[in-house]
Amino acid sequence: MIPGEFEYHAPSSVDEAVALLERLGEDAKVLAGGHSLVPAMRFRLALPQHLVDINRIDGLGHIREEGGFLVIGALTREAEVERAPVVAERYPLLADAARVIADPLVRNRATVGGNLAHADPANDHPAVMLAYGATMVAQGPGGRREIAVDDFFVGLFENAMKPNEILVEVRIPAPGPGSGGAYEKFERKVGDYAISAAAVQLTMKGSTCAAARIGLTNVSAVPMRAHGAEEALVGKEPTADVVEAAGQAAAAECDPSGDLRGSEEYKRDITRVLVKRAIRRAVQLAGGGAA
Ligand code: FAD
Repeated sequence: MIPGEFEYHAPSSVDEAVALLERLGEDAKVLAGGHSLVPAMRFRLALPQHLVDINRIDGLGHIREEGGFLVIGALTREAEVERAPVVAERYPLLADAARVIADPLVRNRATVGGNLAHADPANDHPAVMLAYGATMVAQGPGGRREIAVDDFFVGLFENAMKPNEILVEVRIPAPGPGSGGAYEKFERKVGDYAISAAAVQLTMKGSTCAAARIGLTNVSAVPMRAHGAEEALVGKEPTADVVEAAGQAAAAECDPSGDLRGSEEYKRDITRVLVKRAIRRAVQLAGGGAA
């Protein structure tokens, strides 16, 4: 289908973009990579009267370590994350996810900020950022504010930003010693959204799992953390029984719906298996031996 009519705006600074959003109100939408918004417009699921294209704004496409964080500008393309040496060397969970988001054509254009702001539980970055405990930085008329990722996803396609705010940056805490992370995604074919996926970031102290955060993809209406699975793991040695208990907890607490990608029961069991696989790989990367 053809999208509805809209007016196009191309600001050259964040301040200008925020001023436009402030003036145009809820009739306006930010346009980043356009790979979620434009399909929604073509299906007339989104009918914005104004598009505020942020692609000409400099200074939103960085990816660098700074002050104990990996700082990713909202306009960073997925392909840039995939190619960044710092990600390959120090952020294996993010590196895993970057390789399996859509296909190379989409990754050339789609942005990290758009993937998160869209708040689609089928997208891969929400679970990854939940597992990292990342911070979202939003800019509005009153300046910048930080939103913890645990507070960022508030509903299906709904985030905690106001309509006059732009996501400018994502900050991932740099992993400390003994940390490891992994993303396990199961999809029908390369380039597809996940049937289910598990993001695990953990820290080992000797043979004990001292801390763990686990995010799940596409098995709930809102991107979710698997708190029960985390509890099953933390403070314990990740033996086969403990890892199985964590997988079972995740299967029980997720809330998938049956659809063309599989029944609810199937998705729960896939989630159990993926959580176990991701924990095992994360433990190995953390130097904690085979789980
Ligand atoms: P846009 O489409 O431009 O915007 C999406 C939404 O976020 C809009 O509401 C927009 O207003 C808002 N927004 C964007 N940027 C900002 C910002 N900086 N501040 C405030 N609001 C903002 N994703 C996956 O994770 N995994 C997949 O496997 C996957 N497969 C795909 C396959 C296909 C064929 C396609 C077309 C897309 C796929 N995607 C997948 C989605 C893709 O990654 C999207 O591009 C992404 O979800 C949105 O990023 P975008 O930059 O294109 O955002």
